[in-house]
Amino acid sequence: MFKDKITLTLIILNIILAALVGILLQPYPLSSGNIGESAPVVNDEPEHHSDAAPENGPSPIKICLDPGHTIGTGNGNRSYFGESESEIVWIMTLMLESKLTELGYEVIKTRSDPYQEMTLPERSKIANNFDADLLLSLHCDLGNQSGYAFFVPDKPGTNEDKTGPPSEVSKRSRELAEQLDREIKQVGPIKSRGVKSEEFTYAGNLQGALTISIYAEVPIITLELGFLDNEIDGPFLASAAGKILWVETLAQAINEVFKDSGARSEASGKR
Ligand SMILES: [Zn+2]
Repeated sequence: MFKDKITLTLIILNIILAALVGILLQPYPLSSGNIGESAPVVNDEPEHHSDAAPENGPSPIKICLDPGHTIGTGNGNRSYFGESESEIVWIMTLMLESKLTELGYEVIKTRSDPYQEMTLPERSKIANNFDADLLLSLHCDLGNQSGYAFFVPDKPGTNEDKTGPPSEVSKRSRELAEQLDREIKQVGPIKSRGVKSEEFTYAGNLQGALTISIYAEVPIITLELGFLDNEIDGPFLASAAGKILWVETLAQAINEVFKDSGARSEASGKR
């Protein structure tokens, strides 16, 4: 079937891209010992991890990656240069997961199936239960512009009867986004549009913040990777080389931001 073909193509592409990213990033070893040496696999069953039990060392930093939308449904499926938003962010999430795991981070995704439909509150809940140091939601923009932008909840919003996020989550989200933007824009594969408040998005304007942020109890950043319909950004995001370069840049930026923050427990709050 068509869907199976896409799945197979995505899997093969992912393997090739992950291997390429691994090779490309060889010259960037983890430069500090702050992050745990090996990221334990997140697993519900408590089994055979006896020799991997950490003693008193710092816990690995926990990153929850959210590939926006769902392949095949919804508004993430418009394609301008060969790939839709949901396909681009799914592939880049897998590449980033692989790179960050290699760097010693503990990484989970909000969903493990590219076709799995999932509400925004469900996505936040996974990051909350994981007690993530960062929930990073990947998207691509549409509109007559070029560049990436970070969106953060500077103030609480309300969705149904839920109001959030808490002010410390807002503060930490902005702080992390500004640090990431500073790192990325020095070398950025595409230009920075900076860190923006979610109030200026469509949903944020209606609710005060994006839905995923309203339900987040951990630092939450939405990254719009570029404009799908733009002549520069679109082909860049749809190409393997563009994705590799973006993921490499993003992983290094995350590592720069978190490597000095020490143990996970210290990462949220003081800096
Ligand atoms: Zn989107």
